[in-house]
Amino acid sequence: MKNLLILGAGTAGTMMANHLQHELPEAEWNIQIVDKRATHYYQPGFLFLPFDIYKPKQIKKPISQFIPKGVGYVQEQVDKVLPEENKVLLENGQKLPYDVLIVATGTHIAPEETEGMAGPLWQKDIFDFYSFEGSKNLRDKLRTWEGGKLVVHISEMPIKCPVAPLEFAFLADSFFINKGMRDKVEITFVTPMDGAFTKPKATEALQHLLDEKQISIVPDFNIERVDNERKMIVDYADREVPFDLLVTVPTNMGDAMIERSGFGDALNYVPTNKATLQSEVKDNIFVIGDATNIPASKAGSVAHFEAEILTENIKRFIAGQALKDEFDGHSNCFIETGHGKAILIDFNYTHEPVTGTFPFPGVGPLKLLQETRMNHMGKMAFRWIYWNMLIKGKHIPFVSATMNEAGKDLEPKKELV
Ligand SMILES: Cc1cc2nc3c(=O)[nH]c(=O)nc-3n(C[C@H](O)[C@H](O)[C@H](O)COP(=O)(O)OP(=O)(O)OC[C@H]3O[C@@H](n4cnc5c(N)ncnc54)[C@H](O)[C@@H]3O)c2cc1C
Repeated sequence: MKNLLILGAGTAGTMMANHLQHELPEAEWNIQIVDKRATHYYQPGFLFLPFDIYKPKQIKKPISQFIPKGVGYVQEQVDKVLPEENKVLLENGQKLPYDVLIVATGTHIAPEETEGMAGPLWQKDIFDFYSFEGSKNLRDKLRTWEGGKLVVHISEMPIKCPVAPLEFAFLADSFFINKGMRDKVEITFVTPMDGAFTKPKATEALQHLLDEKQISIVPDFNIERVDNERKMIVDYADREVPFDLLVTVPTNMGDAMIERSGFGDALNYVPTNKATLQSEVKDNIFVIGDATNIPASKAGSVAHFEAEILTENIKRFIAGQALKDEFDGHSNCFIETGHGKAILIDFNYTHEPVTGTFPFPGVGPLKLLQETRMNHMGKMAFRWIYWNMLIKGKHIPFVSATMNEAGKDLEPKKELV
């Protein structure tokens, strides 16, 4: 019996467990998945929880509900990978052997990386919405907040779902309008990037929305510290932005077990081949989702596309065949813009977000890079798709792992990364 071990039972790890349980012969392969938690969170829901749009029970379910029959679920913290021994050491001292390892331990917020961020105002006037607890605490704060300077802030790139902070600013605008107190709130979007988003074409469309909603933007802001006493964020050039309520996305980092294993980069992401998803650590270690260092977006949609290619590559690796080097960085993402509308973007390593239709060329029904009600409905339907199809490894019809170029107004290909 051979062992296939998956570290992390979040979006990517759960999808891989479901795919591989169907694809690998049960009599030959023992598949196990390890996670320190018992709860699976639908993280896109963390955006909606602060505005009371989703309830906690809609965005959390037991991990065990999504682990297929025949796959062993070990609820334990991973201490480190021992690549020379082909074993994983758990915090309880147990060692799990593997023939093939998949690292899917994601990324998490690290507010302690910025001086003063996790200080006396943390979870009082400084909140995140990238964790379940942060998002829920922010909901409680917003229920009674009487207004003032709201600063929505990104500490440094990369972060998972890079559009989520902008979506937060847009939703905050409609939330305060609906509460009849928009005139009491000054919204400022502070980012280390030179504009609203990482991709120039989408930035144009998004800047226009910021202007329309009277959200001011402070670009190129590389935070040095949070001054809790004066309620200011301060950058390395000594620029200061005052806040009454700071909603920040702290530095995102891969899990510390990657550092302990000795193979992470400066932010604990695993060096990974961007086309095959094989690690650069050892041939029998593969990486998927937010844990990789590849230049694709850190997003559930990306993990979904990667899972199709990685499943094929695990089968090829086991059969001693050459790996498929086809992952093209495909990402698609709904950007909620408030008032029941959203923009859909679709891009990959070489194409910026394009205009056109999705998923059917020339038909839609979703329109790319345009703000529509249909796109908003797509975003809201995604929660059902996530719980019932995506993480169960079911194929989503008409959506391909690599970017479909038909029906899209493509610019000449160029390497964006
Ligand atoms: C606010 C917000 C909005 C988002 N919106 C969208 C969106 O609209 N569309 C989209 O596509 N994506 C979105 N995302 C991103 C998406 O949720 C992630 O990219 C996706 O969940 C990544 O999957 P993953 O499996 O790599 O990591 P995760 O799902 O985070 O799973 C990692 C798992 O590893 C476990 N783990 C980590 N370290 C250890 C250890 N040492 N031992 C044991 N277990 C460990 C964790 O407990 C966790 O269960 C959003 C994210 C956020 C925060």
